[in-house]
Amino acid sequence: MDLFSHSDDKQKAETRILELRVQIEHHNKRYHEDESPEISDTEYDMLFAELQKLEQEYPEYKAAESPTQKVGAQVKEGFKTAEHQLPMLSLGNAFSREDMEEFIQRIQRYLNMSDFPELVAEHKIDGLSCALHYQNGVLVKALTRGDGKIGEDITENVKTIHNVPQKLKGDTLPEFVEVRGEIHMYREDFDAFNAKQAKAGKKVFANPRNAAAGSVRQLNPEVTAERPLSFFGYAFGVKDESLSHLKNHSEELEIIKDFGFRLPESVKVLKNLDDLFKNYEQILKNRKAGDYLGQKAYAIDGVVYKVNDLTLQKRLGFVARAPRWAIAHKFPSEQATTRLNAIDIQIGRTGVATPVARLEPVNVSGVVVSNATLHNEDYINERDIRIGDTVFVERAGDVIPKVVSVVPQMRLDHTQKFVFPKHCPSCQSPLVRLEGEAAYRCENHFACPAQLEESLVHFVSKQAFDIDGVGEKQIKLFLELGFIKNPADIFTLLNYKEKLENLEGFGEKSVQKMLQSIEESKHISLPRFIISLGIPLIGAQLAEDLSAFYLSLDNLIDAMADDVKKQELLNQDAFGQKILDSLCAYFTQEQNLQIIKALQNAGVVIEAYEPPQIEDNIFNGKTIVLTGTLVTMKRDEAKNMLKSKGAKVSGSVSSKTDFVIAGESAGSKLKKAEELGIAILTEEEFKKLL
Ligand code: AMP
Ligand code: ZN
Repeated sequence: MDLFSHSDDKQKAETRILELRVQIEHHNKRYHEDESPEISDTEYDMLFAELQKLEQEYPEYKAAESPTQKVGAQVKEGFKTAEHQLPMLSLGNAFSREDMEEFIQRIQRYLNMSDFPELVAEHKIDGLSCALHYQNGVLVKALTRGDGKIGEDITENVKTIHNVPQKLKGDTLPEFVEVRGEIHMYREDFDAFNAKQAKAGKKVFANPRNAAAGSVRQLNPEVTAERPLSFFGYAFGVKDESLSHLKNHSEELEIIKDFGFRLPESVKVLKNLDDLFKNYEQILKNRKAGDYLGQKAYAIDGVVYKVNDLTLQKRLGFVARAPRWAIAHKFPSEQATTRLNAIDIQIGRTGVATPVARLEPVNVSGVVVSNATLHNEDYINERDIRIGDTVFVERAGDVIPKVVSVVPQMRLDHTQKFVFPKHCPSCQSPLVRLEGEAAYRCENHFACPAQLEESLVHFVSKQAFDIDGVGEKQIKLFLELGFIKNPADIFTLLNYKEKLENLEGFGEKSVQKMLQSIEESKHISLPRFIISLGIPLIGAQLAEDLSAFYLSLDNLIDAMADDVKKQELLNQDAFGQKILDSLCAYFTQEQNLQIIKALQNAGVVIEAYEPPQIEDNIFNGKTIVLTGTLVTMKRDEAKNMLKSKGAKVSGSVSSKTDFVIAGESAGSKLKKAEELGIAILTEEEFKKLL
């Protein structure tokens, strides 16, 4: 019986091993050769770890052709190839503290030592590795890792990467040296590149790594040249005698830097486990915050540890596909694949309609994700995301999870294209997409249930009516209890005084305080009142600018119904067409005007606009036009300085203009000013007057 079940297990293991090998080979091809993975890195790592474990338990099934014994991928057709004199290996993975402790113990056992082996910690950059050959300091060859022994010759492509030195820096350069490192894309470069691809209807990449690999493995270097690639150096490969005096990996890194390479941020030498884990946690935390020590952010998927002492590295040597002297402690992946079951529309505070993907729940770096944003209509169409598709979901930084792309290979027959709904799911009024905007909006504001709660929370917030004791929780409750139905009702809450006092969490005192704060808030400045309305695009600065321009709410409302006055607003530098459209849409809607009336009826008094106090100066109250290029400051800076001196900055020259400030190569505006005989200041003069 026992024997039987034993052989039964064994048979199962064998089947599973074969199954895993086929699966992993398949995913290797997708990842390394097509740059188009079907599963996330974590999902892949789990398959790989399962295979490793089974092969360890059942060594009789170990085989040289197993993916656990091999590195990377086949070379792509069309590329020349070359051999690596020193194999380019993969790295073993650690997924836990225990794995890391085991790694240290393995080294100690192997070297028969009890001290902590000094380690260098580096970011594990999520790109693709590349070996650069320098002959007498000149870049002569660049190879991909390939299968570790033979790589693809990508020399011409690599020459287009902006921070790969074509010539090494330094006086005495080695006759031959190989610098190894990672070709990658910074996050912001990747986002911009992907957006461009999507717009052009071209391939959208799931992550920066795939984008980097796809970009560098192009048969036409001109294509590569257009891609925003970068490079980090992190090790020597083959090196000649002139570098044989180096004792430590950290010294090597210094030399690589001196040669003119950029190193990954936060390289650390570690002397004990405590520091090692602290450093790991810190890097993980920074990654979550999207902060890489102030540098441009790049994708990292773990921390690599390398034994610092090069002699010990040599003694430790290699196992099948990875060095014994290094390991990668992987982070939980920020991505996963799952099925997109449906797309719903969510209406935000300002009425923006955001499509939200309802997903088959999936674990992404420790959190179960069942909803993810799809941003807007274009985002969905450009990526051809359909209901029923298998998609990549990402949780990067602290942002809301998003659907990155579909897995095209996994598309089934019955997927459905998504049609953006024509009506607000909350109030049924039509959704409008303004010219030049990506988003659809419901324009109903306080009269749209979906927007009401958030609109009210915004209405009472610090920057608007600033009512103490009323926040999200209270608004929710008052809405539920029917105490309020619109913002004006807040000012009649006094009617519910007794009921309020009997609510859980509301003593007599706190109700008293709340009502008093409501009472005091009734006298409000014009900018705050404008903010409180929650008009799309109108934040604190614009509310201030509008107030300064119109001085009263009535003037503002009147202007929005008058074409001549609208043009006057456009002539001001601070306001563009989009802002004007948004204001018009708001102030021409009857429901919104009624709300404003209701507020005034409830006792809200908008105070006459008082400009901030400004000391007397030559610019105060003047209308000024900037033209040409300023040399010592940005135009925005000049503009803000002028505003703070009480000036109005206008976009066009007219008889009302007091000064024109002319930078370099000023054109038609300067000419017009001369014609009109308006005072013209050079940048020099302007600065003197400031
Ligand atoms: P793997 O992709 O799991 O085979 O891990 C090995 C790969 O990690 C190498 O081929 C490099 O492309 C990559 N890598 C990223 N950052 C580093 C680093 N700091 N040191 C060494 N390898 C790195
Ligand atoms: Zn609505």
